[in-house]
Amino acid sequence: MRRVSDSQALTRQVLGICLLLVIWGCATVPYTGRTQVLMVSQDQELRLGYQAFEQIKHRSRLARDPRMQEAVQRVGQRLAQAAGRPDFRWEFVVIEDPSPNAFCLPGGKVGVYSGLFRYLKNDADLATVISHEAAHVLARHAGERISHQMLAQMGGTGLNLALAGMGASPGAGQLAMLGYGLGTQVGLLLPYSRQQEFEADRIGLILMAKAGYDPALGVEFWKRFAQAKGDRARLPAFISTHPADADRIRNLETGLAEARRYYTAPTEVRDYAALAAPTPWQGHRNLAQPAAGR
Ligand SMILES: [Zn+2]
Repeated sequence: MRRVSDSQALTRQVLGICLLLVIWGCATVPYTGRTQVLMVSQDQELRLGYQAFEQIKHRSRLARDPRMQEAVQRVGQRLAQAAGRPDFRWEFVVIEDPSPNAFCLPGGKVGVYSGLFRYLKNDADLATVISHEAAHVLARHAGERISHQMLAQMGGTGLNLALAGMGASPGAGQLAMLGYGLGTQVGLLLPYSRQQEFEADRIGLILMAKAGYDPALGVEFWKRFAQAKGDRARLPAFISTHPADADRIRNLETGLAEARRYYTAPTEVRDYAALAAPTPWQGHRNLAQPAAGR
C-alpha cells in the first residue's frame, strides 16, 4: 500500500515538473538546435543584464588607451550586427584591469579588460573572444544556469510547494518570484557548464565568420591560449574557466567546417602591434575581482 502511494506521489511529482516546464517553457538554441529548459523570461534576463552592467561600470574605470576602446567598438559593432539581435542594447567597453578577461551580459553588454590586449595580436583575436562571450548570451546560457538552479531548489519541500501551486497560476507565480529572487543573486555569477562552453565555442566561430573574420584564426587563438598554461597561476578567471584542453580544441576544429560556410565577406583585420607593447599603467588593479568574468 505504502509502496503504491510512494509511486503515485512520484508520478505526481514528475507530472508536476513537466507541467512547470510547460508553464515556463523550453527554447531552442540558435545554430545548434539544442533544446533547453528556461524558467526565466527573456525580459527578466535582459533586466538582470542591464542592471549588472550598470553596477560594473559604476565601480570600474574605463581603460585610458583610446585605441583599445576604438578597437572594441569597431569589432564589437560588426559582431553585434552579425548576431542579428537588434532588440539587444549592445554596448562595448574596455575596463582598466590587468586580468586577461572579458564578459558579455544578457542584452549584449560586453566588457573587455585592458589586460586581455596583451594576448591579442589583431582584430580577429578580439573578435574570437567577444564572439565567444556573445554566443553565451545568444544561447541564453545564464538563464539556463538560473533555471537549473531553480529546479534544484524545487527538490524536496520546494517540489511540494510547486505541486501545491500547480492548479492555480497565482501559486506558480509566487514560485516564479522565489526562483527569480534566487536568480538575481547568483544567476549571473554561476560558471557555465562544459557543454555550454563547447556550444559557445561553436556559435562563436559562426558569429565571427558572419562578421567577416576568418574562423580558422579563432581556432588558432584558442590553441595559443592553451599554450599559455605556464602562465595560468596569473590568469584568474578567463583561462581557468576556459581550459583549452584537447577536447575543446577538437570541438573547435569540428565546428570550423560549419563556421566556414558563413565566412563569405572578409573584412579588414587591423594589427595591434602597438597595443601589445608594455604600457605604463599595466600592473594597476582597479577592481577587487573580475566580477562576471567567464
Ligand atoms: Zn565561455
